[in-house]
Amino acid sequence: MKKSINILYRGSLDSCNYDCDYCPFAKKKNTRQELAYDRDCLNKFVDWVQVQKYQLKILFTPWGEALIRGYYQDAMNILSNSNAVEKVTIQTNLSCSLDWIDEANTDKLALWTTFHPTECTIERYVSKCLGLIKKKVDFSVGIVGLKENFEAIRELRRLLPKDIYVWVNAYKREPNYYRDEDIDFLNEIDPLFDVNNTIYETYGKSCAAGEHSISIDEKGDIKRCHFISEIRGNIFETSLDTILRPSPCSNNVCRCYIGYINLKELNLENVYGSRILERIPTNY
Ligand code: SF4
Ligand code: SF4
Repeated sequence: MKKSINILYRGSLDSCNYDCDYCPFAKKKNTRQELAYDRDCLNKFVDWVQVQKYQLKILFTPWGEALIRGYYQDAMNILSNSNAVEKVTIQTNLSCSLDWIDEANTDKLALWTTFHPTECTIERYVSKCLGLIKKKVDFSVGIVGLKENFEAIRELRRLLPKDIYVWVNAYKREPNYYRDEDIDFLNEIDPLFDVNNTIYETYGKSCAAGEHSISIDEKGDIKRCHFISEIRGNIFETSLDTILRPSPCSNNVCRCYIGYINLKELNLENVYGSRILERIPTNY
């Protein structure tokens, strides 16, 4: 059986069509040249994936919104139809058209979607979600747990079918931001809220990042995760066999889902199983 590896890919794109006020990519634009470079790098990555001997699960974690770009839609389609790929997923605000999905293998395609209440009506967002259900695409729905979003969180949960998982990203920039009753409410919406509402102290701890999961940038440079900058090699020059190895975390803390899912002591593969990259627990 082929060894399975999770890949987090982040290209050079750093722009978005939305304007969330806490975000550095809000309404930022890339030039034509910047987009062409991002597209060429992405295409090289897609070609590389297709000749790998590993079974790959891929999560695109763009800085900004990538799925409004036709070349990311094409990449999702190609990868979902590739034998080397077990799963391909992407973080998106779901503002794109869903027509491109008709070319995808929906057994392998999944989406990590996020609702931004200041940028899109809830009706529009939910209708997009219903469109995904119609097209038989697995997806999770998330929202930032800001207090001003609580009404939207309640409404989102009410309007979506019960078997669609709604996650809430804890707002951790302000210590003690939540009251006990806020935490109770958010746990009712997202039974895994407490797991996210934690800043993990990780220095010296066992982490599968670098062993079963890697992060790749537009140049093909490989890091163990998005949060540790040491480059371990380059996919166009180095065999993954020589790079993948267990090693303790060298950072003091790990705050984000896409990092702490690799922390071995949490055993989160038991919670999410094969849908860990699209953030859907096995009981949904
Ligand atoms: S949709 Fe995401 S990337 Fe775009 S502005 Fe909002 S938070 Fe930033
Ligand atoms: S615990 Fe987080 S920061 Fe440390 S290696 Fe794992 S993913 Fe990276």
